[in-house]
Parts: sequence; structure tokens; C-alpha cells
Amino acid sequence: MALAGCSEAQPANGPAPEIPRLIADRFAYPVGPGESVTRARDKKDEWYDAQDFGENNHLGEDWNKNSGGNTDCGEPVYAIANGEITYAADAGPGWGNVVIITHTLPDGTEVQSLYGHLKAIEKTSGTINLREKVGTIGDGNGRYICHLHFELRERHCPSWDMVFVGYSPVSYGWVDPSGFIDKRR
Ligand SMILES: [Zn+2]
Repeated sequence: MALAGCSEAQPANGPAPEIPRLIADRFAYPVGPGESVTRARDKKDEWYDAQDFGENNHLGEDWNKNSGGNTDCGEPVYAIANGEITYAADAGPGWGNVVIITHTLPDGTEVQSLYGHLKAIEKTSGTINLREKVGTIGDGNGRYICHLHFELRERHCPSWDMVFVGYSPVSYGWVDPSGFIDKRR
């Protein structure tokens, strides 16, 4: 009976079950059917990057449909990899609805993808899979012609998990989204 006290110290239901972590082992572009769209095929497939990363100090890419104007309003936007939604809100004038997904790469490194000017948000929290719908393309609360503002951030980004500015001459922490995806498709 010497161990009677010890057995009571055991948790009633054993250790908490480990929550499986989605690993981002593969990436794809956030727009277009299947996985057919790439920046290398701008204007050859249905979509193009109208303002590239770094152009005019742009911290992301602006994805538009070739058909122009607002013909892409309401088109689906997809998660570029497995991950977890860590931000989903109306970020105010100029941004509209924004979703940020945190991705864990196979080596444990974390990156974030940001989807801006969304018309609607599909899901506001929890895990999300590669090519699962994030929301739809919008106009940033009426500020722009419809397009997707798309960013890719590294862990040391000063606006990790936040909406900040879409343009800055200091891009430390942001990476070229298409370049990143192309290496991991
Ligand atoms: Zn933009």
C-alpha cells in the first residue's frame, strides 16, 4: 500500500493526445484551376502577376485574371500549402478581408502566406490543406480593381501574424512568393 498515493498522481485519462501538425511539404499557386497557374506562364495561362514582388517596393504579388477589370471578383483563392489559419479579419480600408496562414516546412521552419483584399473569407481558424479554399477575390472594400494581394513572410518578418503595409523599401522578412513556390511545387 506504500504506492497508493503515487497512483493518484497519475492523470485520470493519461497524457493529452498529441495534436497532429500539418506539414507544408508541397506548395502551389493561390489562384486558378488545378495547379496549372505559374508566374512563368503569365498571360499564357488564365492568370498573371500584375505587380511583381519588389516592383514599386511592393511586398507581395498582385494576381489578376487575364480577362481584366473586375472579371476576377469572386474567384476562389486557395491555400498554397498545408497550414494553420492564424489571422482572418477585415483589416480596414485598403486591405479588406485578410487571411494569414502559418506553414511549417518539413525542417520545422515556419513561413506565412497572406491573402489580401478578399471579398469573402471561407474559414477563420483551424488547419487548412493545400489548395483548400481560403476565400474569394475582392476589391479591398471598394478601393481597387479586384485582385489578390499575396505575400510570403519568414519568421523574422516584422509583421509576422499581422497586417502591416503592402509597400516598403525595407523588405527584410518578406520573400518573392512565386520564387518560393516554384522551388517547392
Ligand atoms: Zn499588392
